[in-house]
Amino acid sequence: MKFSKRIQEVKTSLTLEITALANELKAKGEDVIGFGAGEPDFDTPDNVKQAAIRAIEANDTRYTPVAGTNTLKDAIIHKFQQDNALDYQRNQIVVSCGAKHSFFNLAQVLWDKGDEVLVPAPYWLSYPEMILLAGGSPVIVPTTEQTGFKVTPEQIEDAVTPHTRAIIINSPSNPTGSAYSRKELEKIAECALKHNLLVISDEIYEKIVFDGFEQVTIASLSQEMRKNCVVINGMSKCYAMTGWRIGYLAASPEIAQQVTKLQSQSTSNPTSISQAASIEALTGPQDYVTQMVEEFTRRRNLLMGLLAEINGVSCYKPAGSFYTFPDFSSYYGKSFQGETFKGSVDFARFLLKEAKVALVPGIAFGADNNVRLSFATDQETIRKGVGRIVKAVKSLH
Ligand SMILES: *Cc1c(COP(=O)(O)O)cnc(C)c1O
Repeated sequence: MKFSKRIQEVKTSLTLEITALANELKAKGEDVIGFGAGEPDFDTPDNVKQAAIRAIEANDTRYTPVAGTNTLKDAIIHKFQQDNALDYQRNQIVVSCGAKHSFFNLAQVLWDKGDEVLVPAPYWLSYPEMILLAGGSPVIVPTTEQTGFKVTPEQIEDAVTPHTRAIIINSPSNPTGSAYSRKELEKIAECALKHNLLVISDEIYEKIVFDGFEQVTIASLSQEMRKNCVVINGMSKCYAMTGWRIGYLAASPEIAQQVTKLQSQSTSNPTSISQAASIEALTGPQDYVTQMVEEFTRRRNLLMGLLAEINGVSCYKPAGSFYTFPDFSSYYGKSFQGETFKGSVDFARFLLKEAKVALVPGIAFGADNNVRLSFATDQETIRKGVGRIVKAVKSLH
């Protein structure tokens, strides 16, 4: 069978091997503790579920406009006004089948062969692959824990070439939980405008922030920035709605029009029932989100405290999201049963086999010194899981 060049260029997820191994162990009846979750462990709020049931009963079950219903677009426009001080018109909003789909569409309409897109690392693992699928070139800009895993204007300056078209900002970030302050965003905005780069701002974790962190969207910094920015957001993370598949973007009318055209010839509208549910999520009571974030805060504090007790491990304190990204590299070079750990994949494999703890190797996010532990799991599990990690690494030499 001959396959397209496009699909052959795309990597199979590195996390797949660990996930497959974890599932294999679970199937054998082993008690595996999972820190791998990339979604909230909470259920979708009841009022949202009820809205979906009402939509089905009202036969709200047909095609909608390709870019989403006007009622949902208006709810999204209202959200941008309330939360982000941003004014958009209906022709600037496109609703898609998840924020991942929004990004995929965007990549397809924006980039060709030779176009470079700056991707600060550690990055969400789908960005480089979706850029490649579009024919563009992801240019990875590594950041370190010293700068809070945030890209600096100097790094952008160094990475820019005449072919650079855009930069991706994901704040709060998956996998590090780091988030940019207003000041930091102002500097990045200035640099992006200077080099005429489109800023793609993935704000899917915007409401999951801790200790009163002021979440700012880079698009709101100036009129000029708003024109040069595409904001991506969605229902999955902040409303515990990963399975409903609703995400959206806000962009210039020209970009929104091209994205709509692509969507009209591919998926058409996202599910009508999920759109109805999303209207309720955005316009209904928000205390559910507050409670979820309070519990995430308690878990983050618990997990940070436990990680701090492990010898030779440092961990950046997340300002948002539900991930920690500790650096376990001081254990690389050590060995277990004759096998020496060369990096995060070996280390994650060791923890899975010996401690029965599943986590994601950092190399999947472009940072091999680290591993990602999600705290979208209850406190009891966090305690038990880290306890096992501590025991396992103590056995190393
Ligand atoms: C989960 C996630 C998304 C995509 O979420 P959807 O379920 O497709 O809406 C996008 N960006 C980041 C950084 C994520 O972690």
